[in-house]
Amino acid sequence: MRPPASLAAYFSMELALDDAMPTYSGGLGVLAGDTVRAAADHGVPLVALTLVDRKGYFRQHLAADGTQTETPADWSPEARLAPVAQRASVVIEGRVVRVGAWRATVTGAGGGEVPVYFLDTALPENAPEDRAITDTLYGGDERYRLKQEAVLGLGGVALLRALEIATPRVYHLNEGHAALLTLALLAEEATGGELRTIGDAERERVRERCVFTTHTPLQAAFDQFPLGLVREVLGEELARAIVANGCCPEGVLNMARLALFFSRYVNGVALRHGEVAAGMFPGHAVNAITNGVHAATWTAPAMAEVHDRHIPQWRHDNRYLRYAIKCPLDEIRSAHARAKDELLAEVARRTGRALDRAAFTIGFARRATEYKRPDLLFSDIDRLRAIARSAGPLQVVYAGKAHPRDGGGKEGIRRVFAAAAALGGDLPVVYLEEYDLALARLLVAGVDLWLNTPRKPLEASGTSGMKAALNGVPSLSVLDGWWVEGHIEGVTGWSVGDASAESDDVLEARSLYDKLERIILPLFHRDPAGYAEVMRAAIAHNGSFFNAQRMVEQYLENAYLVRDGGPGGTLHVGA
Ligand SMILES: *Cc1c(COP(=O)(O)O)cnc(C)c1O
Repeated sequence: MRPPASLAAYFSMELALDDAMPTYSGGLGVLAGDTVRAAADHGVPLVALTLVDRKGYFRQHLAADGTQTETPADWSPEARLAPVAQRASVVIEGRVVRVGAWRATVTGAGGGEVPVYFLDTALPENAPEDRAITDTLYGGDERYRLKQEAVLGLGGVALLRALEIATPRVYHLNEGHAALLTLALLAEEATGGELRTIGDAERERVRERCVFTTHTPLQAAFDQFPLGLVREVLGEELARAIVANGCCPEGVLNMARLALFFSRYVNGVALRHGEVAAGMFPGHAVNAITNGVHAATWTAPAMAEVHDRHIPQWRHDNRYLRYAIKCPLDEIRSAHARAKDELLAEVARRTGRALDRAAFTIGFARRATEYKRPDLLFSDIDRLRAIARSAGPLQVVYAGKAHPRDGGGKEGIRRVFAAAAALGGDLPVVYLEEYDLALARLLVAGVDLWLNTPRKPLEASGTSGMKAALNGVPSLSVLDGWWVEGHIEGVTGWSVGDASAESDDVLEARSLYDKLERIILPLFHRDPAGYAEVMRAAIAHNGSFFNAQRMVEQYLENAYLVRDGGPGGTLHVGA
């Protein structure tokens, strides 16, 4: 049998494929899953690799005061995925660690298939501590993380070779975690596998094949490992190659630098983030490809029925969502009402609280971390209470996990709980545990407004607001990330604050209250048809662009394929 052709191998530390597989922590993994789904829909020959994370990210438990505790989110790949017979090896701390894998096959709308390999070191032939390397996503210490990245990057390339997948032309590094794959490719170029023989020609051959997408505007967010640790974990030869290629300035291996050094194409995940990233990496050309979400996955059934009735082409070509302008407003409103009922039923099931279906419902769900400012809405509790009294009933649904070691993120959850207690019955606020794909689907469709208050310029893109837009849920958001592009004031939603480059807590809180009090709540409560126009415009303007079909097409055209003779020339596969 001929091995399957593959244009690109997509490497991601996290990848969200299925509700029952806790192999992601947030936006990065959900984006990876949506990328795979869109590639399958459109027949893009892609193969994806990630880790199996047998203990998942974690299960979140919130005490009555909002204190978060965690337990492992164990799951069983044996029960859900196909075993892969082939094995690969990596050398970690001088030991040979065997790497196996599980395969999921994602089938697209047009019947195309994308295989996803979940790398697994829990093999009987490995030492007990090595069996645990692929257990916990973002768990453990620096050393554990570096071992995981060795399995992903070095083990991933070795597994592709063992699978005899026709050598991919492109290696896509979804964030710097996968950067060690560049060293695996480099070793393949070296005479006799001896890394010290490599020169510019070999480096160039690696570079021609690598594409690096960065997802953060924060230098500190990149993984960095001291050279001593790199030597111990990866061995002297790899450490020397890293140093020789200038990827270890001041004795620290920076994974973003390594990825940059060996990538022909580098991009940020929105216009603004591309600009910020260009400033972070002087001397590198940094492009932008704005994220998108998988429309069929994120559009709630009730709204999908409206689209199916009026624009049936939307499932195969998301650009037709632009024609949502012809969907009748009353159908959009009643589809949304169904989605809202489903969300409120879930809230009642989980919390015992019966929220009011007539009340304006704000949704806020994202990784709980300081820069997302989950409590900006509560900067002035008295004013918020007064707004609910004068401008109409208001309630808020929260969700989001804090990383187990993110003290600031955990404190943010507690502050939301404290505000909820202070507001009592005047303005119901609920915080739902265990934000995951299933809960996200209910939230982005069932609330009336999607609130986003990151501190600028720290939101690289954000994708939950795109999911909300597909469901006719407008955003009220700080002008950062994707919203810089998606926002048309009063048409697709509203901005918090102005277009200045940096956030000001006081000004933004005031803007948030002003917009709610004077514009948004009056529109919702007194002019429902006017509110429905904004809902419809969010679908038409933003659903038709911020989708994964458009994103994958842009990766193909700009990053995977190379144009002969510059713009307008013929496209062919890279390398
Ligand atoms: C979409 C999604 C995210 C990312 O949302 P942001 O807007 O980027 O914060 C995180 N977690 C889950 C479960 C999601 O579905």
